[in-house]
Amino acid sequence: EPVFDVTGVTKVYTSGEVEVRALAGIDLQLFAGEIAVLLGPSGSGKSTLLNIIGGLDRATSGSVLFNGRDLTDFSDRQLTRFRRDHIGFVFQFYNLIPSLTAWENVSLVTEVARDPMTPDEALAMVNLTDRMSHFPAQLSGGEQQRVAIARAIAKRPEVLLCDEPTGALDSKTGVIVLEALTRINTEFGTTTAIITHNAGIQQIAHRVFQFLDGRIASMHVNEARIAAT
Ligand code: ADP
Ligand code: ADP
Repeated sequence: EPVFDVTGVTKVYTSGEVEVRALAGIDLQLFAGEIAVLLGPSGSGKSTLLNIIGGLDRATSGSVLFNGRDLTDFSDRQLTRFRRDHIGFVFQFYNLIPSLTAWENVSLVTEVARDPMTPDEALAMVNLTDRMSHFPAQLSGGEQQRVAIARAIAKRPEVLLCDEPTGALDSKTGVIVLEALTRINTEFGTTTAIITHNAGIQQIAHRVFQFLDGRIASMHVNEARIAAT
């Protein structure tokens, strides 16, 4: 059984008289332990789908099964709990709290999670053991993003959702961030979906979904990557 089973999902945004059809019928499954990459032009619906899967937004129609339970039936309170208990998010901008050290930023999550790792463990996963006492302004962009990743994984989420995690980084730094995501996937079996334009990601993805105009235009299976796992 897939972790996520998305069927016939549409999303229409309405503002006043204007309707934007962001998703025009998405069918997609995410399997346990895979890295799925979402590619496609700006405005093709990738973020909208990621937000719906992560319980940040609601589908207009269709079903979104998470381990067999339909998120579209959840109350707002259930969705909040679902996000808290099962999903780690990483965004393009790191959203770290500037007045807190790297360690303290991660500890905000570990204090409230059910079965967290320690901030030290989470930061070690992204090779930041020697930066734990630094404040965000003292860290490079790639280091800040790795703190954000440590924060996202510290609660041991079943699923990690990443929206342009290397979008603000140069390509060399981006590769280091992708390596951190790969390591987490390998060591914890975290099911991972990543929106990215980074070419390096094609090698680490198990499957690549190509979006166009609110639909999945094609899907590519990275056989070499699957054979190596
Ligand atoms: P992508 O992530 O592929 O760039 P998005 O999912 O962000 O695409 O956007 C898909 C479409 O939905 C775009 O036309 C975008 O302008 C529109 N859209 C996204 N979010 C909103 C919103 N909150 N309100 C209105 N339209 C939106
Ligand atoms: P309540 O009715 O008290 O809100 P729920 O049965 O809806 O409790 O479950 C609360 C949360 O626990 C859900 O939002 C979901 O995140 C998680 N959950 C419960 N059962 C499952 C399940 N079988 N698979 C995945 N998550 C689950």
